Amino acid sequence: MTFNSAEFEFACGTSSQLPQSTKPEVIFSGKSNVGKSSLINKLCGRKALARISSKPGKTATINFFDVDDFHLVDLPGYGYAKVSKAEKQRWAELMEGYFDQERAFCLVVQLLDMRHKPTQDDIGMISFLHNSGLPYIVVLTKLDKLKKSEVNKNLAMIGETLKEFDDIRLFPFSAQTGEGAESIIGVINESVEE
Ligand code: GDP
Repeated sequence: MTFNSAEFEFACGTSSQLPQSTKPEVIFSGKSNVGKSSLINKLCGRKALARISSKPGKTATINFFDVDDFHLVDLPGYGYAKVSKAEKQRWAELMEGYFDQERAFCLVVQLLDMRHKPTQDDIGMISFLHNSGLPYIVVLTKLDKLKKSEVNKNLAMIGETLKEFDDIRLFPFSAQTGEGAESIIGVINESVEE
């Protein structure tokens, strides 16, 4: 099953442009190039709903997609070294503006590259989610790029790095093979129905 009715609705570059929250929001967050567009496209059964960017960090907008009974919200990627200070400030203003609003936050899907140790930016984002009490899961991307022998080792390494966050839920995923997609869709559906 996929969210194949998804339609792009709105992109906003400043918090004053944010649309009213009219449906539960399932939010996707992660550093540039982590595979966020690829995950969204896979979950929605589409080739190019969210843009798979060749230039990481280029589009710092929050993008809203309409998916039946919820909105899928694609946050701008973070952690791209080559963006200007002004662009970083705009990113921060946009994110704070979004999370400060009274919105129907339903679930945050936080992405991490399964091949690597989470970065300081990743840990900062997870701390924010944890401390704010928002429901979230962590999707570990690019599973297919790991050898079988590395999968459990990396799961343990990431689990150890994030051990201060109790009950963290990790979902390995590959956009290439689709492995892990059904479980993620299941969690999203459950969170929307609650
Ligand atoms: P975004 O910047 O987070 O939206 O990342 P993209 O979805 O644009 O992906 C960045 C790059 O990683 C692209 O070249 C994708 O094809 C590649 N990629 C993303 N997910 C996977 C995956 O699960 N497996 C493999 N092998 N490549 C992936």
